[in-house]
Amino acid sequence: MAVVHLLPARRLQAGRRMDAVPLARLSRCLLALLALALLAAPLAGAANDAGEPFFPRAGSRAFDVAHYEVSLAYRPAKRSLEATTTIEAKATRGLKRFSLDLDGLTVTRVTVDGVRAAFGRGRDKLKIVPKTPPAKGERFTVVVDYHGHPRRVVDTDGSSEGWIVTPDGAFGVGEPQGTPAWIPCNNVLYDKARFSFHLTVPARLSGVANGRLTSVTSHGGRRTFEWVESQPMATYLALVDIGAGRLTGSTIDGLPSWTLIDPALAKRSRNALAQLPEIVRFESSIYGPYPFDAAGSVVDNAPKLGYALETQTRPIYAFAPDLTTVVHETAHQWFGDSVGLRRWPNIWLNEGFATWTEWYYAERHGGRSARQIFTKLYRVPASDTAFWEPPAGHPGQSKNLFTTSTYVRGAMTLEALRLQIGTKKMLKVLRLWATDQRHATGDIDQFTTLAEEVSGQDLKPLFRRWLDSRGKPARA
Ligand SMILES: [Zn+2]
Repeated sequence: MAVVHLLPARRLQAGRRMDAVPLARLSRCLLALLALALLAAPLAGAANDAGEPFFPRAGSRAFDVAHYEVSLAYRPAKRSLEATTTIEAKATRGLKRFSLDLDGLTVTRVTVDGVRAAFGRGRDKLKIVPKTPPAKGERFTVVVDYHGHPRRVVDTDGSSEGWIVTPDGAFGVGEPQGTPAWIPCNNVLYDKARFSFHLTVPARLSGVANGRLTSVTSHGGRRTFEWVESQPMATYLALVDIGAGRLTGSTIDGLPSWTLIDPALAKRSRNALAQLPEIVRFESSIYGPYPFDAAGSVVDNAPKLGYALETQTRPIYAFAPDLTTVVHETAHQWFGDSVGLRRWPNIWLNEGFATWTEWYYAERHGGRSARQIFTKLYRVPASDTAFWEPPAGHPGQSKNLFTTSTYVRGAMTLEALRLQIGTKKMLKVLRLWATDQRHATGDIDQFTTLAEEVSGQDLKPLFRRWLDSRGKPARA
């Protein structure tokens, strides 16, 4: 995600945006308390076991999803969705009952292995009782039919995701908790799965998702777009965008690429998006081969959303992006999408890395060097706690996931590593990180161990100062 903050001036802007939403934050808390009070009894039986510290209600370790098939018809005029999601999964224990994350919407029918299953709802759960429980190790298929008006999800930091209505359509984005607003899923980082999408929309609009476009069919004033994401994807990286504009296909050195730009933003987006092939080439040259079998961009019109997101293979920009933002979201295809997080508190591995890539890209393209940016930022006084806190490796709570320090102190941490071990070894660490954990997940301990192995140095003091310690890190 790109919300911020190369320089202090942009940081101020971001700060104002965050400060402008105390009411939304309050409503969210009140709703949460109310829901807990009302649903405490029925929810007790579906106690969460996924172990995610920031979102303890999300997900389950009782099963492992292999594939989601999402068939979704959207009527923008009514803002209504009619959908069927088919989930292929494997039980990791006997499943007398299990739950999926689903936030809002009305479920009409659930089957498990083709047999109608009993189901009930919690606030953000679909609880399923199969007629014949899948045994431990058994593969099973769940089909969920549902419809309704998908909702916008508001986070603890006041930002939004979920289903976002635009002037001509809508889009669905998920970081960190929005995907269950339109897909029943196991919404945890470590349960990556493959996806296919069938998006049915009015014929004048296009429907875009992750991966490769495999067909477009017309029928009765509507069109269905079929997309296949054939590499593993975390649920929060799923994308659906429905809007006007021309869906264009091209290739980047043989890599197929699809782009949809809202007509109102086409002119202002053109220059930055035209650089995508060069950015993919540049980042491939330093981090190793591009990790997916498709690329592209979506630009849609939701400026109030205030961010861009690294939806897998095809980032979405809720405004006309600049070059730096495209560099950032493309870097996430390696760091965040291919090499995923195992737990949300490790967000540094996504945002620090994508932000440092912005700096290194500028350095290698005639701009200021990453070291110059680092030196300038290091002059920010220790008294500016909003800049230095929380430490990049310890956001502490979910509302700090996308604060300034996650990005800027996070990128400074990588530049500090570079200053200590040298550019060549630093780039080797990043490349090995991208290739060793390709399409899997990693954590900060694994990364710091890798950096020590490559450099042959004891880097614990450096990482402790930059990732773990409160306040402005002292110079080495
Ligand atoms: Zn980002």
